[in-house]
Amino acid sequence: MSNAANRNSWIVSANGHADFPLQNLPLGIFSPQGQAPRGGVAIGERILDLKVACEAGLFEGEAKTAAEAASGDNLNAFFALGGPARRALRAALSELLVEGSAAQERMKALGKALLPSMYDCQLHLPARVGDYTDFYVGIHHANNVGKLFRPDNPLLPNYKHVPIGYHGRASTVCVSGTPVRRPLGQTLPPGQEAPSFGPSKRLDYELELGIWIGQGNEMGEAIAIDAAGAHVAGFCLLNDWSARDVQAWEYQPLGPFLAKNFATTVSPWVVMPEALAPFRLAQPARPAGDPQPLPYLLDEQDQASGAFDIELEVLLLTAAMREQGQEPQRLALSNTRHMYWTVAQMVAHHSVGGCKLQPGDLFGSGTLSGPEPSQFGSLLESTFGGKQPLTLANGETRTFLEDGDEVILRARCRREGLPAIGFGECRGVLLPAR
Ligand code: MN
Repeated sequence: MSNAANRNSWIVSANGHADFPLQNLPLGIFSPQGQAPRGGVAIGERILDLKVACEAGLFEGEAKTAAEAASGDNLNAFFALGGPARRALRAALSELLVEGSAAQERMKALGKALLPSMYDCQLHLPARVGDYTDFYVGIHHANNVGKLFRPDNPLLPNYKHVPIGYHGRASTVCVSGTPVRRPLGQTLPPGQEAPSFGPSKRLDYELELGIWIGQGNEMGEAIAIDAAGAHVAGFCLLNDWSARDVQAWEYQPLGPFLAKNFATTVSPWVVMPEALAPFRLAQPARPAGDPQPLPYLLDEQDQASGAFDIELEVLLLTAAMREQGQEPQRLALSNTRHMYWTVAQMVAHHSVGGCKLQPGDLFGSGTLSGPEPSQFGSLLESTFGGKQPLTLANGETRTFLEDGDEVILRARCRREGLPAIGFGECRGVLLPAR
């Protein structure tokens, strides 16, 4: 019912809002001007303050438990409650905010204390990130990057059997809007035999879906594929900033290290699985000749509805564009349907050996490129390894990012007959190296 198309909100800016109509209701952590961070819900151009809403007695029962858990300065306790509490809160929020709500006058009387303008608030990381894992499930990205190194054999033999990933760095996961400093590191310049130390010259973004883990598991106990969905608390956008020159020198034999541990940017709003329910798809059939997933990764229901139809966009705003008052330019438009593995398969595989997942753990999907150049989710792919610069509309060119460039990720779900919902933005401006 919370997804029904005919439900409008008495908060007028929500109706037809590109990201946050009544059907979305994502949670995040924000601070109203001069006040401490607390949980809130994005609705149109406003944020419903869960702390104020709890104090005003707007919730009852399981929804009240969930709202209280989400009203502190992080959502970890809320994530730990799991699906039933989350759904109770979502249903209660939808009833409070729907046009003609019984609580409408009471809520209006609370004014900006309950519903401050989003533009007056600062947004924070939604959770304390316990551990961060980045996967590699975008098969077109894996193919494109593999081709740069191994033209005849781009995908390594494990790719279609294992959801590949690496353990990333939780401490440098930051919220949208946080500036990112160009990292220093070791690189092996072309034609040289000894490495150099200095600022990365091949700094890149990666367009990814972020997955917030809800209820965890005990060490030694795997999460079964058919239960994996229940361990996902929500979704965000994720930019896995990558220093390609550092990566190329350091990645063998253990994978990415400093090339990716200096910054990972996430969007502030956690889009609930229930808001994405109308935008689920069957996992695309594997091409003829591809192996079937092993039994621990195969579930009928997951195959029938475990994929998502979410448009993903990456835009660039250069310093020159900003100075001239120009709009950001789209560099790529892709979709989550290019995931070779489902989110449930990522969760099941991560835990199958006994690894403990905890509320607030974060997964990245891996770069979600499509097959066409206009769908490539990194500059490494768009410029064919830096060999073919992109020419922007204002005449500037890029092979990799320059200081002052701002990378902006957006996401949108559309389906005929339903209001579109979005994720809000995931942005970060690149500062010069120290
Ligand atoms: Mn990545």
